[in-house]
Amino acid sequence: MNAEHLYDENTKLKRQLRAFVEQAKDNEQKYLRLNANILKLLAANDLASLFEIILSDYRADSKLDVVTLTLIDAEYEIRRTLKNEGFKFANYPGLIFVDSRYRLRSRLSDDMSPLLGKCDEKQKEFYFPRYELLEPVSMAILPLIRNRKLVGSLNLGSYQENRFIEGTATDFFEQFTSVVAISIENALNQERIKQLGLIDPLTGVHNRRYFDQRLDEEITRAARTQKPLSCLFLDIDHFKKFNDEYGHQIGDRVLQEVAAIIKAQMRGSDVMARYGGEEFAVLLSNTDTKLAADIAERIRFIIAENEYELDDNIRSKISVSVGCSTMLPEHGCDSEETGQQLVAKADSALYAAKDKGRNQVVSRVIRRKRKAQSKAS
Ligand code: GH3
Ligand code: MG
Ligand code: MG
Repeated sequence: MNAEHLYDENTKLKRQLRAFVEQAKDNEQKYLRLNANILKLLAANDLASLFEIILSDYRADSKLDVVTLTLIDAEYEIRRTLKNEGFKFANYPGLIFVDSRYRLRSRLSDDMSPLLGKCDEKQKEFYFPRYELLEPVSMAILPLIRNRKLVGSLNLGSYQENRFIEGTATDFFEQFTSVVAISIENALNQERIKQLGLIDPLTGVHNRRYFDQRLDEEITRAARTQKPLSCLFLDIDHFKKFNDEYGHQIGDRVLQEVAAIIKAQMRGSDVMARYGGEEFAVLLSNTDTKLAADIAERIRFIIAENEYELDDNIRSKISVSVGCSTMLPEHGCDSEETGQQLVAKADSALYAAKDKGRNQVVSRVIRRKRKAQSKAS
């Protein structure tokens, strides 16, 4: 072996070594970024911030052109949970829900390994549907798997044709993806637990616990803002008859129908709950006696006007009686006692409506207490 040959060999090895060092430095940077993003995921305590980290922070940090997240939501449960939390879907165009597991599963390989390569029109439509102006030409589709079950995919898109080609190493992406899958599941579970305690499972509206919590808050707010606060109690007329004549399931169906109608008539700021059995309670902020009675009458009318298809051959009318009570700002009360008074008045008004023949509205105003009056004068 001559000196010249040795020199060439040496230069080649040096070049290779430099390349390895560069690669190692690059990997170290990637690793640090990955760790930082994983820590962010673990620190996020709600779904909205998780989505923000995945779709926005991670995209920027990993120098990706487009990132979207596909979630399998066959029973609409994730979307319902998010909606209950007031999640703004329009702010997250990268979030995609698919209604059947098969739609995603059928696009992946049998072993559910990452899918890398060209992004054609069909792929773009499925993985990057809301990005009309952006045209990723290569993509990496990373399946999200929890307990061996496919739950969605993290979709990375690039404008460079050779950013993702078959054989590109995806270890870093896969590590991130596995934490994404766990974090989403955790956040969803947290949300479920929170909502289970305050939501009535049969009708999907809030329960009495929630109503009681909000009652205190609303009274304090009404006293502070000097605005009237009204309360409605609605009770289904002769509800027992549905159970007795058609069975418990039809009774349940009636409860769902009525809950949905009341909810549809509410404003975002109103509080509505299933107070118990076949009784619903509503808090209307900034609503005086007249407006409360109008709202109550509108709900009563809509419920009574409809005919309900409760089963294949069961059609029936439903009606409710409504009691309204109002607390006026000049009452100047903000105590727990006022909450109880507001509820008690609505309840007694409801029973007056029942007494008068049902399917009607009765209103009551809370009077200022005599003692408080003499003090004030
Ligand atoms: P009124 O017009 O005086 O209000 O008569 P009503 O029959 O509506 O009232 P009553 O209090 O006599 O009966 C209410 C019934 O509601 C009794 C109870 O078994 C039934 N009920 C309570 N919760 C549920 C439920 O979740 N599902 C079903 N199917 N029935 C329920
Ligand atoms: Mg009833
Ligand atoms: Mg009742």
